[in-house]
Amino acid sequence: MPEPKYKRIILKLSGEAMAGDNSVGIEIDYIKLIAEQVKKIHNLGVETGIVVGGGNFWRGREANNIDRATSDHMGMLGTVMNALALQDCLEKMGVLTRVQTAIEMKEVAEPYIRRRAIRHLEKGRVVIFSAGIGNPYFSTDTAAALRAAEINADVILLAKKGVDGIYDSDPKFNPDAKKYDSLNYREILKNNLKIMDATATTLCMDNHIPLVVFGIDDENSMYDVVCGKDLGTKVK
Ligand code: UDP
Repeated sequence: MPEPKYKRIILKLSGEAMAGDNSVGIEIDYIKLIAEQVKKIHNLGVETGIVVGGGNFWRGREANNIDRATSDHMGMLGTVMNALALQDCLEKMGVLTRVQTAIEMKEVAEPYIRRRAIRHLEKGRVVIFSAGIGNPYFSTDTAAALRAAEINADVILLAKKGVDGIYDSDPKFNPDAKKYDSLNYREILKNNLKIMDATATTLCMDNHIPLVVFGIDDENSMYDVVCGKDLGTKVK
């Protein structure tokens, strides 16, 4: 069995990834494919925390005529649905998990408790962090950066659907878009590259958390990244 490059990771899954080929809602067959990939890295002994997005249900800032904070609360609740779906798929594959929520809902899942999350990871449970950071006006990318800092993750793996790294322009619209093999956080901010929002980028930069952006469509990509294969774009 190969030696993984990282001991503890935060995997960020966008809501888009939970929707599979649809733009909204959950596609359970696609989540199962993601869960298979998670199982493979979990079997390598990698301590895995997952931050799930919620854009497949609701994005707070895109709603008109709803108070922004309320709209963001709705968005955070969407992430909990994604977390429960992913938990169900992982547990059916025999992977032990815990869902933690940044907004307390004890009947559904554990509240986020940092030391408890670390304990779960040490015991080999996959911890799925949901409800972002629990506050409106933030994103789940910021939650990924924050949880990575709090649990001392070695890296954030930012899994993207439909794209395999960071490009200088959107490859879906520009066939000449150039992919970066590596770059730093300052360049992301300076060139306004739409990979994470500025709050999340700054948090990663200030806390020296490396990031790997990779495409999740290839069934081995997560495993390969964890094993240190040169895939996607590395950000330092
Ligand atoms: N959200 C929030 N605070 C957080 C995280 C998320 O208010 O800490 C809300 C926000 O409205 C956001 C929505 O939840 O649009 C879904 O999260 P996000 O857009 O980050 O999901 P993704 O783009 O990864 O699918």
